[in-house]
Amino acid sequence: MRTISVLGATGSIGTSTLDLVRRHRDEWRVAALTAHGNARELARLAREFGAEVAVVGDEACLPDLREALSGSGIEAAGGAQALVEAAARGADVTVAAIVGCAGLAPTMAAIEQGGTIALANKEALVSAGEVMTAAVAKHGATLLPVDSEHNAIFQCLHGQDMADVRWITLTASGGPFRDASRAEIEAATPSQAVAHPNWSMGAKISVDSATMMNKGLEFIEAFHLFPVGLDRLRIIVHPQSVVHSMVEYRDGSTLAQLGPSDMRVPIASALAWPRRMDTPCEPLDLAKIGTLTFRAPDEELFPATRVARECAQAGGAAPAVLNAANEVAVAAFLAGKIGFTRIVPQCEDVLARGIPPVPATLEDVIAADAEARRRATERLERA
Ligand code: NDP
Repeated sequence: MRTISVLGATGSIGTSTLDLVRRHRDEWRVAALTAHGNARELARLAREFGAEVAVVGDEACLPDLREALSGSGIEAAGGAQALVEAAARGADVTVAAIVGCAGLAPTMAAIEQGGTIALANKEALVSAGEVMTAAVAKHGATLLPVDSEHNAIFQCLHGQDMADVRWITLTASGGPFRDASRAEIEAATPSQAVAHPNWSMGAKISVDSATMMNKGLEFIEAFHLFPVGLDRLRIIVHPQSVVHSMVEYRDGSTLAQLGPSDMRVPIASALAWPRRMDTPCEPLDLAKIGTLTFRAPDEELFPATRVARECAQAGGAAPAVLNAANEVAVAAFLAGKIGFTRIVPQCEDVLARGIPPVPATLEDVIAADAEARRRATERLERA
C-alpha cells in the first residue's frame, strides 16, 4: 500500500485522480486532500477516502469544513500555511493539482520531503523553473509530469539518450477558436472560451487553451523538464488531440504517444510509473478516428506562444511575470472585465514594465509573482 496526497482534490485533475484511486482502493492510503473554498465537496471526499487531513486554502471556509467533518476523526485545517504543512507531511505520491502559482509553495513543500510528485500544476514549474528543479535534485524527489504532452514526451524519452534527441514536438489542440476568424475571436465570450472541443478541464486552463497560452506555458514547462535546449522544442497544432506529443531522434525515428483525450491516462501513467495500471478509458479506435492532421501554429492570431518563447529565452523571473500577468488577465476575462483579445497584450504590457532579478529562492519567486500581480492589477484598473 502506498500513501497519496492530492493538492487540489476538488478540481478536474483532482477528481480524475481520485476516480483512479477509488478503482484501486486496496493499493492506496490517502494522506492529505486539499481544496480552496469548496469545503463541502472536500469533506465528502475526505470521508469517502478516509483521509488523514483535509485543508481549505481559504481560511474563511474552515468553519464549514470543520462542521462537515465533525465526528469523522479527520483533521481539518485552513489557510495558505496549512496547505504547505499538509504537503510537508509527505506521501509516497503527491499529486500537485492546484491551479495557478498558488500551488507553488505546497508543491515545493512536497518536493522537500523527497517523494514522488505527479505534477499537473504547470504554473508552479513555469514560475519557479530552476528553483524547483534544483530542489528536486537536492531532496532526491521524483518529478513525474501529468500534463498530457509532457507525460507523452516522458514516455517517448524512456530508455533513450537525451543527446540523441533532434526535436521534441508538443502537440496543441488549438482550442475552441482554432478555426475561428479574427472577428469571432475578438467577440469571444467566457462561455465560448471554456468550451474546449476535446478536453474537459478547469476554467483557467480552458481559457489558456483558447489563447494558446497553455501551449506557451507548456513550452516553458518542457524546457525545464527535458533539458534539450530551447532550439529543439517546437509546437504543432493537432486538432484531434490523439497524438499527445512526439520525440524525433537523430536517426530520423519519431516516437509518439497516442491515447484518448482523458487525463486519467497520463495520471495513471504517473501513479503507476514505472509500471502500468488499468484505467476505465475507452480504447483508442484509430479506424473510427480515421484522420490525424497537423498544422503550424498561427502566431499572428495567437501570439501567446511567441510571448512565452521570448520569456523562456529571457529566463530569470520573466516566466514568473508572464504567468502571474496571465493569471490576473484570465481572471479578469472570466469576470467579464476585459475582452478575450486583451489577455495576451495585457501580459506583454506587464512584461514591458520590467523583470525582477533572477530568483534564487522560493521567496524570490513568490515576490516576483506578487509584484507582477500588483502591476497587472494596477494596469487593469487604469484601463
Ligand atoms: P480546477 O480549477 O478544476 O481545480 C483547481 C483545484 O485547485 C481545486 O481543487 C481548487 O479548489 C484548488 N484551488 C484553486 N485555487 C486555489 C488556491 N488559491 N489555493 C489552493 N487551492 C486552490 O483546475 P484543473 O484541475 O483543471 O487544473 C489544475 C492544474 O492542472 C492546473 O495547473 C492546470 O494547468 C493543470 N492541468 C489540468 C489539466 C486538466 O485536464 N484539467 C490538464 C493538464 C494540466 P476549489 O474546488 O475549492 O476551488
